[in-house]
Amino acid sequence: MKAHDGMYIGGEWRPAAGPDTIAVVNPADEQVIGHVPAGTAEDVDAAVRAARAAFPGWAATPPAERAGRIAALRDVLAARKDEIAGTVTAELGSPLPLSQAVHAGVPVLVAGSYAELAASYAFEEKLGNSTVLLEPVGVVGAITPWNYPLHQIVAKVAPALAAGCTVVLKPAEDTPLTAQLFAEAVHEAGLPAGVFNLVTGTGAVAGQALAEHEGVDLVSFTGSTAVGRRIGATAGAAVKRVALELGGKSANVILPGADLAKAVNVGVANVMSNSGQTCSAWTRMLVDAERYEEAVALAATAVAKYVPGERIGPVVNAEQQARVRGYIEKGVEEGARLVAGGPEAPREQGYYVSPTVFADVTPDMTIAQEEIFGPVLSILRYEDVDDALRIANGTVYGLAGAVWGADDEEAVAFARRMDTGQVDINGGRFNPLAPFGGYKQSGVGRELGPHGLSEYLQTKSLQF
Ligand code: NDP
Repeated sequence: MKAHDGMYIGGEWRPAAGPDTIAVVNPADEQVIGHVPAGTAEDVDAAVRAARAAFPGWAATPPAERAGRIAALRDVLAARKDEIAGTVTAELGSPLPLSQAVHAGVPVLVAGSYAELAASYAFEEKLGNSTVLLEPVGVVGAITPWNYPLHQIVAKVAPALAAGCTVVLKPAEDTPLTAQLFAEAVHEAGLPAGVFNLVTGTGAVAGQALAEHEGVDLVSFTGSTAVGRRIGATAGAAVKRVALELGGKSANVILPGADLAKAVNVGVANVMSNSGQTCSAWTRMLVDAERYEEAVALAATAVAKYVPGERIGPVVNAEQQARVRGYIEKGVEEGARLVAGGPEAPREQGYYVSPTVFADVTPDMTIAQEEIFGPVLSILRYEDVDDALRIANGTVYGLAGAVWGADDEEAVAFARRMDTGQVDINGGRFNPLAPFGGYKQSGVGRELGPHGLSEYLQTKSLQF
């Protein structure tokens, strides 16, 4: 696997400031596939300086021209789709069809949406006797996780560029090769030097240095709530803008009149996709008492199709594998009924976890409250619709969810009462323009579409 041994700063690959490197491991076979430099505060400083130097020019570039560069970036990502999919599979372990369709495909859609939005967005508006200018915030520090390595990058970088901001990216240490490919794509698309910069490294060193750097005007972070809280506190102390996309424990609510088989099958697929490493996954399935056992049986049948190493990949690393298996043990200890899977690793090599389904999960159990980030589904029983709502809203999170009803009207009535940022109604499709982000401890701010773009803008009002 091709790996750069430098940082992409100021439009070129520069040697890293320090000698340390990070080994990149394929989680499917535990083999080292490459090394990338472990960035230091010095690398971060050089990248922020490059981004600052590029900011005035990029901010002053007419939106239509910025749109043209983002469209060029989209085209390069589309042209290099196979290479991207292969790289994601090598460092994340996801099955190739998933890497092709989702990991490589969705970023093309999202970059395309921002090429269009940059050209059409109203960066100026009239309000009574005022003209309100929407101006770029400045230099963005983007810190991304490994679960959707390219999507998480594009969901921050594309709107930031559309707004006229410049960016320094610190990607997850588990998936830096995809980030290096993205930097190559930026270069190929002809973005001006310094508009996008990449520093690979660990969160504790490079991530922290970026979040704390006084030359960064906005920190956009996706990852765990624990790290998000720290980044929010650091940004607050410096009175710096912050966007946080954090964890979830989303509910898949199946109302009594819904098509049970469809709701359960789509629900199981949603949780198992990407080995359960999706912040918006519907990890709690809520079913009425009368059809509960039928749903459990359907889920057990559906999950049997997810054969580890074939339809479902490993989790990202040994630590995550141990963490997820620990949650499965905790579920058994707390009295949930195991209907599929279990804590034993299904394969000797690779960081695999058995696709697992728990029944008789009660709302107070750990597996009903905490984000597991693995292929684990909890099925909960509700007595009536108000009980379902109490359970659905009864966690600290509020990122996503689903409602299945006899018709859209019934499902929407329920969705309106949910404390969550995004709800799919009767199997609604992904929309790259829909705002994505959390209520409660799932985060601050929104990504994607025009709402995602507005995160990178600040307003100035002129009175006449
Ligand atoms: P983290 O929150 O630790 O990592 C996310 C990103 O933040 C990575 O780039 C990481 O770097 C970086 N980071 C870590 N510590 C700091 C810091 N002190 N300052 C600045 N940046 C930092 O997630 P993990 O990878 O450890 O995953 C743990 C759990 O987090 C998962 O099990 C899951 O529950 C949740 N998670 C949620 C995601 C989501 O999409 N909402 C995505 C990923 C994880 P590095 O790669 O070096 O750690």
